[in-house]
Amino acid sequence: MSVGVAILGSTGSIGCSALQVLARQRERFRVAALTAHSNAELLERQAAEWRPTYVGLVNSGKRGTGNGRGPECLVEAATRPDVQIVLNGIVGAAGLEATLAALEAGKRVALANKETLVMAGELVTRAAQRGGGEIVPVDSEHSAVLQCITGRRPTELARLILTASGGPFRTWSPERVADATVDEALRHPTWKMGKKITVDSATLVNKALEVIEAHFLFGLPYAAVEVVVHPQSVVHAFVEFVDGSVLAQVGFPTMELPILYALTHPDRVPDAGARRFDPVAAGTLTFEPVQAGLYPAYRLGRAAAAAGGTAPTAFNAANEVAVELFLEGRIRFGRIAETVARVLEGHRPTNAGSLDAVLAADAEARRLAREAACS
Ligand code: NAD
Ligand code: MG
Repeated sequence: MSVGVAILGSTGSIGCSALQVLARQRERFRVAALTAHSNAELLERQAAEWRPTYVGLVNSGKRGTGNGRGPECLVEAATRPDVQIVLNGIVGAAGLEATLAALEAGKRVALANKETLVMAGELVTRAAQRGGGEIVPVDSEHSAVLQCITGRRPTELARLILTASGGPFRTWSPERVADATVDEALRHPTWKMGKKITVDSATLVNKALEVIEAHFLFGLPYAAVEVVVHPQSVVHAFVEFVDGSVLAQVGFPTMELPILYALTHPDRVPDAGARRFDPVAAGTLTFEPVQAGLYPAYRLGRAAAAAGGTAPTAFNAANEVAVELFLEGRIRFGRIAETVARVLEGHRPTNAGSLDAVLAADAEARRLAREAACS
């Protein structure tokens, strides 16, 4: 019998990659539900091709697409009895409720929506324990770690080194970066992704989010989660074990492999469409330290992680607001980090163990960010 998959954010970059993967795995998986925010046209086309039992459009306007509407459709899709795996490809905090509900309902959540774990890592972890659900990362670095540690005991794990491409501004001066345009920030050297995560890769906020994501997924202290800049994006992560041995997972940059692995973990299945790795074609691989002066927002993210409680929630919310303002052309690139800094200065971290506390910290940080960005 095939496994039912709900794809939240099916019209996005991750959602579309997931459907490409599933098109080659039709005997194993069936698309049971699809949701999107506002791209009704693409959602309709996907629904016509895949015939899921549930189609949800958050912002439906006058369009009559599907059987679910409004933000509630995400939880509806994620908790349906014919769904075993929820692939959460939503961008930003909007994905939180669906992740929590799916885990409470005992589903596997294949999680691309890292903002959810950063915003509410404790709650998400607890929802999984309580409901019997499991979180399997889609993020390529975390998939790499999971692939390296599967079959090992947690006590054998010593240190993680996540790789970062360094984004489009790796070789720029900090002064020039501060005035980078939207077009320049969206020109990612190795990955083709949605706009928000592409800007996050240019500020390196994405890597700060991933450090926090790794902490919650793998239970390591922040001191044991390091980052190295690797412009070719071929090595996705290194895992060091207590005996000093280091494993790495490598491959040409594609999200299709980590998506498929998140669906099949701990098993592997043949994929006729997978691009074969060729070390000669991969060429020279280089590694550099993160230049702190070039990525001020990365440093802020690590500081928020160390502060703990609701500080990561505030960090994520401030960044979401600042990136949106930057993409709208309302603030300069350098203002993203300045805004996040101002919000974190004004934020008093509290315990992040309740949904109310998390949502309050998120809302307060968004308000502060709007104020700080435009003042
Ligand atoms: P995207 O912008 O291409 O797609 C976002 C999707 O989320 C769309 O389908 C959209 O309809 C949906 N969405 C947006 N706001 C929503 C809301 N308020 N309610 C419901 N749905 C909403 O983004 P993406 O690049 O696919 O990234 C999605 C997530 O995956 C992000 O968290 C990102 O960090 C993570 N991720 C992406 C990649 C990648 O290669 N694209 C890699 C690793 C992790
Ligand atoms: Mg990643």
